[in-house]
Amino acid sequence: MNATETTNHYLSQAFDLLKLSPRYKTLLLTPSRELRVEIAIELDDGNIGNFIGYRIQHDNSRGPYKGGLRYHPDVDLDEVRSLASLMTWKTAVVNVPFGGAKGGIQVDPSKLSRRELERLSRRFIDQIAELIGPDADIPAPDMNTNAAVMAWMFDQYSRRYGFSPGVVTGKPVELHGSFGRDAATGRGCLFAIREVLAAAGKKLDGTRFTVQGFGNVGSWFARLVHQEGGRVLAVSDVKGGITNPDGLDIPRVVEHVKATGSVVGFAGSTPISNEDLLVLDTDVLVPAALGHVLTKDNADRVKAKWVVEAANGPTTAEADEIFNRRGVVCLPDIWANAGGVTVSYFEWTQNTQKFRWTEEAVNRELESHMVEAWQAIKKTMEQHQCSMRTAAFALAVSRVKEATDLRGLG
Ligand code: NAD
Repeated sequence: MNATETTNHYLSQAFDLLKLSPRYKTLLLTPSRELRVEIAIELDDGNIGNFIGYRIQHDNSRGPYKGGLRYHPDVDLDEVRSLASLMTWKTAVVNVPFGGAKGGIQVDPSKLSRRELERLSRRFIDQIAELIGPDADIPAPDMNTNAAVMAWMFDQYSRRYGFSPGVVTGKPVELHGSFGRDAATGRGCLFAIREVLAAAGKKLDGTRFTVQGFGNVGSWFARLVHQEGGRVLAVSDVKGGITNPDGLDIPRVVEHVKATGSVVGFAGSTPISNEDLLVLDTDVLVPAALGHVLTKDNADRVKAKWVVEAANGPTTAEADEIFNRRGVVCLPDIWANAGGVTVSYFEWTQNTQKFRWTEEAVNRELESHMVEAWQAIKKTMEQHQCSMRTAAFALAVSRVKEATDLRGLG
């Protein structure tokens, strides 16, 4: 199954559970708009680089389209389509008034200079400017894009349409960004696993965690769970992983990454490959890098009891079935990693209000959205005796269907 088929497979389970008529499949599965652009920029050596970019708008029945922009060589139509759909369900699960969209550029940003990256980001905005806007479609950071990229995008859009801070979220705090946005996705994952562990009579303190990916989401999650007394046994990045059965000193790992650019080589740890890390003896596995890393080839060997889907789409449909059969509990991406889009909503709200919230207010509101979503998911699980993923999709689909029905098709 490709990425879109996987998402649609999960959605079908929710449609069946809700006994929805087939007309809703047609309405809710297909994206409303797909844009493919060619972005030609002048490279520093005087040559022309030509890159393919996408923006896919899936659904806006609950509010403006919303979703990140990813810079990665693997970005393609299928992946972006599936991620755009996931955003529709994610914004619905945490009940923020947005729809779903996603975009990206097929590029390896590590091969571009900062000036080239800036030119690419600005040209991309020029190419999609007619489709986006503070009340239409609001991009945000995703893999390999960050606050600096959002600052260029805000500036480029504002040159054309005037001051528009609400056109993108994830901006630097100094440039109309929100306190707490940087840590939001990792913090949201923390609230999610905290609630699930509590329902099983357990605490973060003393629980063993393994984290794949030490970028924005993975490193924040590791830092926060370490602060709460969680034992982080292993972390990794694209260059490899490190492990220590007694628990890694995460603040020192963060310092090491700042100094060297990777977790690899951290003193007081032994190396571990990204493949072995996924099947390490641990309580909670947190894939926080790429999609489709948990597959039929390794799901049987995963030793964790809980999988927190910090990344988007880390579990294939086949692996999901294996996990369900084995009693491994997956905290689905559309809830677990929704902290980022939730605080993006707070950022957009602050931009609209022209008012700044304190970090405490942001974190408090984030916690309340994540916990309310958990209570609704838990209720749906109990009502239908289904997995957490099916419950989260069913909750999201019912909210989007409601909005679609209320707006009407006429
Ligand atoms: P990032 O670019 O900051 O970090 C990605 C991390 O993954 C890096 O440590 C990188 O080295 C590592 N990585 C890349 N390829 C790898 C590989 N093949 N094996 C192991 N590690 C690898 O990205 P991020 O923003 O932290 O996003 C990570 C995941 O979380 C993505 O799936 C993204 O869609 C998802 N997500 C991010 C946010 C957000 O707010 N940033 C919100 C929701 C979901």
